[in-house]
Parts: sequence; structure tokens; C-alpha cells
Amino acid sequence: MARTVHVIGAGVAGLSAAVRLSQGGEQVVLHEAGAQAGGRCRSYHDAALGMMIDNGNHVILSGNRSALAYLDTIGATKRMRGPEHADFNFIDLATGERWQLRLGDGLLPWWIFSDARRVPNTRARDYLVLARLMWRPGNSTVGEAIDCSGALYERLIEPILLATLNNEPPEASARLAATLMRETLAAGGRTCRPLIAQEGLSSAFVDPALAYLTAHGANVQFGHELHNIAFDNSRAVSLDFGNETIPLAPDDALVLAVPPNFAARLLPGLQTPNEFRAIANVHFRVEQNVTLPPMTGVVHGLTQWIFTYPGRLSVTISAADALMQQPREDLAHTVWGEVAKIAGLPDALPPWQVVRERRATIATDPHQESLRPAAQTAWNNVFLAGDWTATGLPPTIESAIRSGERAAKLAAA
Ligand SMILES: Cc1cc2nc3c(=O)[nH]c(=O)nc-3n(C[C@H](O)[C@H](O)[C@H](O)COP(=O)(O)OP(=O)(O)OC[C@H]3O[C@@H](n4cnc5c(N)ncnc54)[C@H](O)[C@@H]3O)c2cc1C
Repeated sequence: MARTVHVIGAGVAGLSAAVRLSQGGEQVVLHEAGAQAGGRCRSYHDAALGMMIDNGNHVILSGNRSALAYLDTIGATKRMRGPEHADFNFIDLATGERWQLRLGDGLLPWWIFSDARRVPNTRARDYLVLARLMWRPGNSTVGEAIDCSGALYERLIEPILLATLNNEPPEASARLAATLMRETLAAGGRTCRPLIAQEGLSSAFVDPALAYLTAHGANVQFGHELHNIAFDNSRAVSLDFGNETIPLAPDDALVLAVPPNFAARLLPGLQTPNEFRAIANVHFRVEQNVTLPPMTGVVHGLTQWIFTYPGRLSVTISAADALMQQPREDLAHTVWGEVAKIAGLPDALPPWQVVRERRATIATDPHQESLRPAAQTAWNNVFLAGDWTATGLPPTIESAIRSGERAAKLAAA
């Protein structure tokens, strides 16, 4: 009988592992505790807004090679939309200034030397700080590696790092920031085009993957939460799902693609990151025509990024732990005050929704970074996947998908 690889967790890491294993001809069973796949990257119908929305605005970059390869395999590349070039629109709420950062398509950062293209109120030599961060990060925090003040920091470095590391940048790992910068800014504008799933995250990352898996004979089970794993000395021997126990044949393998706290419960002695950071998203239903670009960075506001969708404006606030206790209506009012001013819309609060994910990602300081485990475990048929494993990348879709590819390779070997 053919061997089976059991994948636990149908977030994008688990989906990525399952897709790669199925592509390689493995027999796959994907077990998801919830009723829906996608984990932290999913769409749902929101009753307050009366429309489908995502649990949070997600952006990937055109240089996210694993995410794009995954989308290509499942036939969903066209579901991601973005500008033709790496152009980013910003507004400074304190001064009212608006500008467009245009990175161009080339490998060399000519934009730094152009008054018209670099960040207003910065000089070309200010950007040397990026080189320092990229090439000499050490084990330090960003705050130890570079000066976290001044126009370049406030108008470029802070918005990028907050959005990608989901941590107050001064405390975040300089090494992670360096990897991110090397794979994006330093690799040229062609790798930095922001891509958004305009018709929703599930229509890009989830539904096409489930269709691919079904077409390749994989078995996907929802409402199937793994409670316990039995081990002998070197391997996992059975999976306990509460009302069902599945024995593992000698060749069978297990990919555990669950969040770190769940993985630590299932694998005795596993060390994992144990601090998390929140992300708040505030969505507004708008009837009026909005002239904002698909994505606008906001400096000196509570709002960090504004996204436009048909009939909706959505705001993202990363590292939002301080906002978790704030009354939802107050938060909606404050954010709408900023959005209305930026978009030139009436002050009256339109229908809104606040979605706060307390454990949106792991914290990304150097200590938490040191706790991220490799894909291999103490058991030779158990492999880890998840954005929080040691991928060397910030906890993002790219990290999750890359971790799934890696676990699939190990499980198939
Ligand atoms: C609001 C928000 C905004 C974000 N913005 C961005 C962005 O702009 N760009 C970006 O790249 N990333 C972003 N991220 C991060 C991105 O969503 C994550 O990196 C990615 O979704 C993590 O995927 P994962 O598969 O590793 O984990 P999860 O999505 O957490 O998947 C784990 C799955 O395991 C299941 N599970 C748990 N325990 C069990 C069990 N015992 N048995 C079976 N199943 C189980 C869960 O139900 C879940 O489906 C954002 C995240 C949030 C929350």
C-alpha cells in the first residue's frame, strides 16, 4: 500500500505542504480543526458590512518567490493584482504632504539619487543607513543597528518594518529586517511590486489550493482536530483525533502546520516562540467613489495603511497590542476621522467593522527569533511548517509557504 503523509492544519503553510506533496505523487490527508481552510489568511461574510471581507488586509511582494510559485501551481496567479511598477503612495497626516515613492524596475537604486523619486525631506546620503542595516545586522535589534528617528526612518523604514515584522521596529530583530530588505529593496524594484488579492484571500490562496488537492486525490478533512500524538523512541506511531485514532504505518509521515502554541502542546520538549503581536483591521463600507490608490501608506497617524476595494475602505494597524482593550466604536471613530480626511469623505461614520487578531503573528525580536525551530524534529517522521518556524523570514505568507515547501521535501525524502 502507498504510504500516506498526514498534514495537520490547513493554513497557507499546511496547504503549501499538501500541494507540493500531492504534486510529487504522495498520498496526502489534510486535517483541519476548523470548518474552513486558510487559518490567518481567509475570507468570510461579514454581517455588519453585508459583504465578503478578509480577516485582514494582506500584501505580498512580486519578489516573494515561494508564494508566487505556489499561486502558479494552483492556477491562481491572476487573482493577485498590483501596479505595473513598484510605486508606493504615502501621506503624512501631520503635514498633509502626499508623495509617491517610485523604485523603478532596475536593480540599482537610482530612485535614491532623484529628488523627485525619493522620500521628501531626505538626502541621498541618508540612505546609507539601509546598507548598514542590510549588511551588518549582527544579533542586535533594529534600534541598536540604526538610528530610529528622522524623516527617512519615519517615512520609509518604520512603515515597511511595521507592516512586515509586525513589531515595534526598534525592538525587532535586525537580522530579520536585513533579510527582508535584501530580498526586496536591495533586489530592485521588480521584486517590490505590492500584490493584493482584490477578490479576497480565499479566492487566491485557499479555494484554488483545495481544488488542486481534490483533483490530485488528496483527502481534506474539516472539523478534524489533532489532540495527541503517540511516539515510540524515534517516530510518531499514531494520531489521536478524539473520536478516531489513526495508526501510522512505518513509512507514513506527519507535517505539523499548526500555530506554535499548538505545536508545543503536541510535541513534547519542542521549544517555540511564545510571544505574539496583534494586528487591527478597521473596515468601512463606502458608497461614494473613492479616488485613493489601491494602497496608501499613512505617516503620523493611528492608521498605517489604507486599502481600497470595491465598496469598501480598509485600514491596517500592525503591532496593535495597545489597541486590544480600546472600545471598538471609539477605534472605528478615530480611524474614520483620519480616513475621511485623507479620502475627502464626509465625517459621518459609515457602516464599519473592527477585526482584531490578538495573535496575528509571533513577536519578531531577537529572543523570539532564537526560539524558532527547524523543520526537522526529534522524531524522524515528523516535520514542522508554519510562518513561525526558522525560515529566516518575517512571519508572513512567504514564510508560511516556504516552510510548507521545505516540510514537504523532507517528508517526501
Ligand atoms: C490581520 C493579519 C494581517 C496580516 N497581513 C499580512 C500581510 O500583509 N502579508 C503577509 O505576508 N502576511 C500577513 N499576515 C501573516 C499571514 O497571515 C500568516 O503568516 C500566515 O497566514 C500563516 O499561515 P500558517 O499556515 O503558518 O498558520 P495559520 O494560518 O495559523 O494556520 C494554522 C492552521 O492550523 C489549524 N490547527 C490548529 N491546531 C490544529 C489541530 N490540533 N489540528 C488540526 N488543525 C489545527 C488552524 O485552525 C489553522 O487553520 C497577516 C496576518 C494577520 C492575522
